[in-house]
Amino acid sequence: MVKITNSPEETYEFAREFAENAKPGDIICLDGDLGVGKTVFTQGFAAGLGITEPVNSPTFTILQIYDEGRLPMYHFDVYRIASPEEMDELGYEEYFFGEGVCLIEWSTLIEELIPEDAIHVLIEKDLKQGFDYRRITY
Ligand code: ADP
Ligand code: MG
Repeated sequence: MVKITNSPEETYEFAREFAENAKPGDIICLDGDLGVGKTVFTQGFAAGLGITEPVNSPTFTILQIYDEGRLPMYHFDVYRIASPEEMDELGYEEYFFGEGVCLIEWSTLIEELIPEDAIHVLIEKDLKQGFDYRRITY
């Protein structure tokens, strides 16, 4: 399915609603170029789970855990990962196969670790349609 948004607020709102369907063990892969809105999506999703603390992507932190929502949320940003072994060091399996929801920015960098039943969300720009246009395929 495809959702078009024309502002960060619309992407946030879409993700907030998306979170209503989240179940324990869901893995949501967020892909698309730098600055497309993967973190904005994650922020809206967090709000949808009832997380009130601020969500961002610190440059050198691969995993952030948010426990206050309807489900635990594990926010991975693997942009700076050097190799999939770093995921082992993090003990990623506990999160991927746990009772929370994983959101993984730049999931294609750890493609070999992503389970087959993961949910994929791809965000793309199309500058011909305007600077804030985003096409979200899910
Ligand atoms: P990423 O995590 O994919 O690198 P961010 O979510 O950090 O990207 O940043 C997305 C940037 O794009 C923000 O500055 C946001 O304000 C801007 N933006 C403009 N239009 C949109 C839109 N339709 N959806 C999401 N973000 C948008
Ligand atoms: Mg980001």
